[in-house]
Amino acid sequence: RLILGIETSCDDTAAAVLDENGTILGEALHSQKEVHLKSGGIIPPVAQQLHRDNIERIVNKAICASGISARELSAVATTVKPGLGLSLGVGLSYSLRLVNEYHKPFIPIHHMEAHALTVRLLHNVEFPFLVLLISGGHCILAVVKGISDFLLLGQSIDEAPGDTLDKIARQLSLTSHPEFSTMSGGQAIEHLAQMENRVIFELKIPMSQHRDCNFSFAGLRSQVNKIIRQKEAEEGIQKGEMLSCAAEIAASVQYTVAHHIAKRTQRAILFCNKEGLLPSKHACLVVSGGVASNKYIRKILQSITNAADMTLMCPPPRLCTDNGVMIAWNGIEKLQAGVDILYNTKGVFYEPRAFQSTRYLD
Ligand code: ATP
Ligand code: FE
Repeated sequence: RLILGIETSCDDTAAAVLDENGTILGEALHSQKEVHLKSGGIIPPVAQQLHRDNIERIVNKAICASGISARELSAVATTVKPGLGLSLGVGLSYSLRLVNEYHKPFIPIHHMEAHALTVRLLHNVEFPFLVLLISGGHCILAVVKGISDFLLLGQSIDEAPGDTLDKIARQLSLTSHPEFSTMSGGQAIEHLAQMENRVIFELKIPMSQHRDCNFSFAGLRSQVNKIIRQKEAEEGIQKGEMLSCAAEIAASVQYTVAHHIAKRTQRAILFCNKEGLLPSKHACLVVSGGVASNKYIRKILQSITNAADMTLMCPPPRLCTDNGVMIAWNGIEKLQAGVDILYNTKGVFYEPRAFQSTRYLD
């Protein structure tokens, strides 16, 4: 069986063809990052137009690279939520055109479920496992009980860590600096933080009094904002110039973000142990999303899993960020489990069930 996966939920137009063993036969990706970096953020109608301009080419490229024809596909799997409505719409309508033309089953995919299950493409991680998804748009802790069975333990009550890092990088004028201009905000902060191993700006770790597994990053960003404005005034620097203490600020931000994420994850592990939600032996923490490529955050999470006698698993960076492979893989797993499949002819599609049940720590 051959599955085509299509992803357009945010700013990447991506497609991939996988066979039922998870072998990647062909893949293609067009990133809009450069355009959005210039405009200082994603403008939805611009993203939509770029998806429209690229979807056909990207899908054809993935199919051609796989050496098959669209007729030979067994099904088309496409991200239907969550994401930007206008962007999702492009992938969905293109997919529906394909499934109608070639009479193929359509498998609607939940973007965050796909991120959570990507690890199973490469490693034999069995259910249930704990997942931490840290990206540009999300921050989620959940127990993955099965292919379509997620128990949400916590999420961000305001913004996502990647978004926070991107905004702080912009405040620090990193995005306009030649050394960092090709990097995402999170990468730029990691880079800068590596130059400084002291944490001299003490930032409050968010939600340390909250007895749940939720996250918050907005307050941290305003704390940092205040420090940046104060230092800019002290140094008398112009907008667009980098502060002399930018590396110290980056190191403190990275430290605080990492420790906040780690503390919430630790609470989730305690909760899972108390409720018997994870296997008593060989329990696994899977971490994915763009922010998971941060080496410092990984190191802290590694020490937490070591202490809890758990295994830490992270997909390689190219599979942590948005891609077509994870969508196709989720389609394969769903097809094999016989769930959530819709033979779509009317443009009506099944809403995937995801993260429905919510429980908090006491
Ligand atoms: P979502 O999956 O929630 O819809 P997204 O697809 O935009 O969001 P990703 O592509 O998974 O998010 O991740 C992008 C984010 O990861 C950016 O905000 C970026 O700053 C952050 N990021 C990338 N590399 C690093 C790094 N080394 N350290 C910290 N953050 C990073
Ligand atoms: Fe994503």
